[in-house]
Amino acid sequence: MSITTTTTSMPFWKEYPERDSEWVRQYPTKHVPVNEEEVFARKPMGVYVHIPFCNRLCFSCPYIKHQTDRDLTRTYLEALKTEITNYAERPYIQDHVITLGYIGGGTPTALTAPQLDDLLGHMYSSLNVEEGADFSIETTPVDISERKATVLLERGIRRISLGVQTFVPEELKNIGRPNDPEMLKESIRLLRRCGFENINIDLMHGINGQTMESWEHSLDVAIELGVTCISFYTYMEFAQISTKRRKLPPVPEKAVVDDMFLFAAEKLSRNGFLGYYGDCFAKPGYQPKYGETSWSEDIPIIPLGPTATGHLRDHWYFNEPDIGRYIQTVMEGRLPISMGKHITKSEAIRRSMVLGVKAGRVNRERFRRIHGVDFMEMFRAEIDDLIEKELITADENGIEVTGPKGWYYLDNISKAFYSPEFRRYPQHLGADISNFISSRPIPLQLTTRPKDEEAGCDHH
Ligand code: SF4
Repeated sequence: MSITTTTTSMPFWKEYPERDSEWVRQYPTKHVPVNEEEVFARKPMGVYVHIPFCNRLCFSCPYIKHQTDRDLTRTYLEALKTEITNYAERPYIQDHVITLGYIGGGTPTALTAPQLDDLLGHMYSSLNVEEGADFSIETTPVDISERKATVLLERGIRRISLGVQTFVPEELKNIGRPNDPEMLKESIRLLRRCGFENINIDLMHGINGQTMESWEHSLDVAIELGVTCISFYTYMEFAQISTKRRKLPPVPEKAVVDDMFLFAAEKLSRNGFLGYYGDCFAKPGYQPKYGETSWSEDIPIIPLGPTATGHLRDHWYFNEPDIGRYIQTVMEGRLPISMGKHITKSEAIRRSMVLGVKAGRVNRERFRRIHGVDFMEMFRAEIDDLIEKELITADENGIEVTGPKGWYYLDNISKAFYSPEFRRYPQHLGADISNFISSRPIPLQLTTRPKDEEAGCDHH
């Protein structure tokens, strides 16, 4: 039998006249020394814990919270611990180490000292929390005690944030707070005596009856007390409803409130504070890592508790806001994820830019390491425009928002990096989320706010 061979003219021969003799066995790379620790290193991760209880509900507060109630608090803490366990069992979570966290609310210290101890103990024993992880917690001057402060310190929490609002007695009265500035100062001294070195206080501008002089007084007291961080917020517009009801002096004009911002930014800068997020100031080295690192470096965040927002496995999402449905979902063994979005690669890049700018600066090399792109080239037009407006400065290391002018417009600057389709898109908390809330019945009878409860903000 004879074998005949035919020569077929294969079209790709025109493209590849010679067959490549190198047999592909892996993706080409330049090799560098690698060790076992690097190969198996756990990646950093953060955690946000929401405690939706307050001992006294503030009149003008937009946050999800409930009057502290012994039974509800106990049931909630069981659910929260179960949610932690549910996360802890997942391999993706086990591949990470918790390096930072934030415990907010509500008022986390509305919990008792043993409850705080139990919750933190459960979290640390279930998740891989790194020794020395950077954790912050919120409190109010009336909800903190030596016992609670000691528990927090023993559990490794190093930064505490107190809602003070003002050191002027009349203004405290106008926002419905215990109007004794000495008590506020004493709570700060107590935290220092207990061992807290990093103490943040929240102050408010735009309060009824506030003047530039009284605002300066509050800032002076805060600086003299030696706190390491000061954040300030504008008293909320709808607080004016209470102004009419209670015949309070008017809130300052908007132009005066704007001047109060610039005045405070300049004063705090002169006194050694650095600005971040626009209205937060910290002594060097005391800025919380939670926002700075998790935002600009794209560190995943586990959300715990109702309304908590998280960012895991390329999804941004937030938890069921209704506490009853939250508890039921968790107790059924599921994660209480309510709504969210898959983040594509290009959105992740923009997200890092937006949140990095919000933190005040974006490092070029770190950004390239995380996303593999040079943001200075990618966003050349936006960056040039912001430089021309003197809102940012740039050098070969990256960009930095200029203070105080740029800090004041920080949100405007951040939005320059939104994709065009989202330029006028509202934040999630401003969006109508009702369609996404599950329709299962609420299993719990919740405590409602007493009708005559009226107060200013204790914190935030
Ligand atoms: S502002 Fe007042 S009501 Fe709102 S979370 Fe803080 S303490 Fe609670």
